[in-house]
Amino acid sequence: MTSTTKQVNATEECNGKCDSCNTSSSCNDQKKQQYEQEQKLKLKLGKIKHKIAIISGKGGVGKSTVTANLAMAFAMNKHENQVGILDADIHGPCIPKMLGLKGQTLKGGPGGLLFPVVGKLGIKVVSMDFLLPNDEAPVIWRGPLKMRVIQQFLSDVTWGNLDYLFVDLPPGTGDEPLSVAQLIPDLDGVVIVTMPSEVSEAVVKKAVTFARQIGVPIIGIIENMSGFVCPECGAEINIFRTGGGKRIADDLSVPYLGSIPIDPNVCNDSDNGLPFIAENKNSPATKAFREIVEKIEHFVASEPVER
Ligand code: ADP
Repeated sequence: MTSTTKQVNATEECNGKCDSCNTSSSCNDQKKQQYEQEQKLKLKLGKIKHKIAIISGKGGVGKSTVTANLAMAFAMNKHENQVGILDADIHGPCIPKMLGLKGQTLKGGPGGLLFPVVGKLGIKVVSMDFLLPNDEAPVIWRGPLKMRVIQQFLSDVTWGNLDYLFVDLPPGTGDEPLSVAQLIPDLDGVVIVTMPSEVSEAVVKKAVTFARQIGVPIIGIIENMSGFVCPECGAEINIFRTGGGKRIADDLSVPYLGSIPIDPNVCNDSDNGLPFIAENKNSPATKAFREIVEKIEHFVASEPVER
């Protein structure tokens, strides 16, 4: 390949200064653009103290519910205006609905800037849902395109200074979790959500293995929909076989963060766009969320990210 047709090798060092670069004459701008994008990403991430991804082995276990309520819990607990959610579920985004932000759109600014939608207690939200024309419009994208949009959500959005960014990932171990792990090298860790069923327990082990293989710390496992506390008499009824999350955590030597019981208000509030824990201050599920928040705070305070 001659110097004039030489393609830029992404692994070559680039300092973004074309004048001093002896390959600049053959550089087709790809390398410079990549360098600038990386710098932008670094700058944005540098303003966010803690980044936590929420994952699950399979769908329907309450991962987005946990993300929305954790974000709200942190915002209520000394981090008002300092919490963000990146809804990285490109195909099935539902954070906007859960936080009452349905129908809003991301606003643009000069130079390709994007501004997050701001919800209650100043929670900043970015989601594919804000870009879709209606609920019926599917996103039919392959991996590289999804990675690019997640990168733009991180580097082109004006997140500002945040204490916590929660990343809601789609279920499983596919493109989006890999992209997030790659794009956020200083991720504090992942919270893994499961529910009491053998099917869910089997796949949660895959999520643990996945996190370990890509070198992301595991903050811990949450068992959601774990039993039901009767609102009349306070008796605990185990609708499903509970305790699997704790068992797996012990078996795999992963911290167990806690069990969140089934509460019809969790579902009703999500459907109505109301953050459950802000509306139900004394329910057993709220208490469970609060205890989990304490454990996450303890984890991020005691685990300096050096990766
Ligand atoms: P995922 O993100 O894992 O696909 P969701 O967060 O969308 O799952 O939750 C699936 C459904 O279960 C939603 O309707 C949600 O409101 C409901 N749900 C989640 N957790 C609870 C809970 N602890 N009690 C009652 N309903 C719940």
